Amino acid sequence: MTEDDTQTFDSTVYYDDDADSEHIAQKTVAVLGYGSQGHAHAQNLADSGVDVVVGLRESSSSWDAAESDGLRVATPADAVAEADIVSVLVPDTVQPDVYENAIEPNLEAGDTLQFAHGFNIHYNQIQPPEDVDVTMVAPKSPGHLVRRNYENDEGTPGLLAIYQDATGDAHDEGLAYAAAIGCTRAGVVETSFREETETDLFGEQAVLCGGVTSLVKQGYETLVDAGYSPEMAYFECLNELKLIVDLMYEDGLGGMWDSVSDTAEYGGLTQGDVVVDEHARENMEEVLEKVQDGTFAREWIVENQAGRPNYEQLRTAEKNHEIEAVGEELRGLFAWQEDEEADDEKTEVKA
Ligand code: NAD
Ligand code: MG
Repeated sequence: MTEDDTQTFDSTVYYDDDADSEHIAQKTVAVLGYGSQGHAHAQNLADSGVDVVVGLRESSSSWDAAESDGLRVATPADAVAEADIVSVLVPDTVQPDVYENAIEPNLEAGDTLQFAHGFNIHYNQIQPPEDVDVTMVAPKSPGHLVRRNYENDEGTPGLLAIYQDATGDAHDEGLAYAAAIGCTRAGVVETSFREETETDLFGEQAVLCGGVTSLVKQGYETLVDAGYSPEMAYFECLNELKLIVDLMYEDGLGGMWDSVSDTAEYGGLTQGDVVVDEHARENMEEVLEKVQDGTFAREWIVENQAGRPNYEQLRTAEKNHEIEAVGEELRGLFAWQEDEEADDEKTEVKA
């Protein structure tokens, strides 16, 4: 059984009671990579009583770190060979290479390939054999929070998706894995590789990373071009964004509108759609189409194969935007203020 592309996106949410640790208790998990997600999955699984082996290159600086965290470490190939579940937590751009060299030759029928993001499966950069399970357990948080929440007996919300169920046990095993890293304590939303991959790419491009930075830069440029000071433009268009985002995160759009002045609320409600208008919406649909039809994925894969020339150029241009220099200076002023406050406290302690 493989994922059905025509499925609708109605979500089920799973909690601790839905998971049965028996589906992972007797298994060995190879966690490949010991970065943000890898260190958190490996330690949480081990603390949940699961047998874990971390797979790292012999040259990896993480080898000692994983061992001093009390984990067994082996090369990726050896780790896969002894594992029943292979959790692929190396960077997405190196996964196809690690799959070809270390995973595929050592994978056995009935094993599970477990991912935290669907890119390589969804866009066919990794094509697993039919006799293995292919699952995704993706915490909706960076790894250090996945680990910290687990240690504090709290959970991290996550996603579960089954791409291929060769054994008939993929779903129960995926839920047991999600429970072992602490996700079912908070809630695990059922999704598909397709939905996770496409929404993740769209969100980071259109809204979170791409959309927001363009909004900030264009707001800043509009004020500076009209003769206002770069410092004021920086404060209004970048610095205060954090306050607004914090309010939305805590209490939704309504919480934010309730907290700002009536003037800000009225002006925002009337002018927001003037700025991000139907053209922006059409552009978003274009961005989504390029995600859906694989155009973006192909472009990014080729860009990597070519040694990332366009990526490096864009990075340099972004670094050289005036707002970055202004921001560095202003943040320096805040740091000086904070230093002074810290000094005051020290003086008080001494006195
Ligand atoms: P990372 O960059 O933090 O860590 C990657 C690890 O892989 C490092 O330990 C690195 O040393 C190791 N590595 C690199 N090349 C390797 C190779 N050739 N062979 C063996 N090991 C190698 O990565 P991450 O952010 O934890 O991402 C891992 C996966 O988790 C990705 O699929 C990512 O999309 C997904 N994910 C990340 C987050 C996040 O917040 N960071 C959240 C959800 C899902
Ligand atoms: Mg194996």
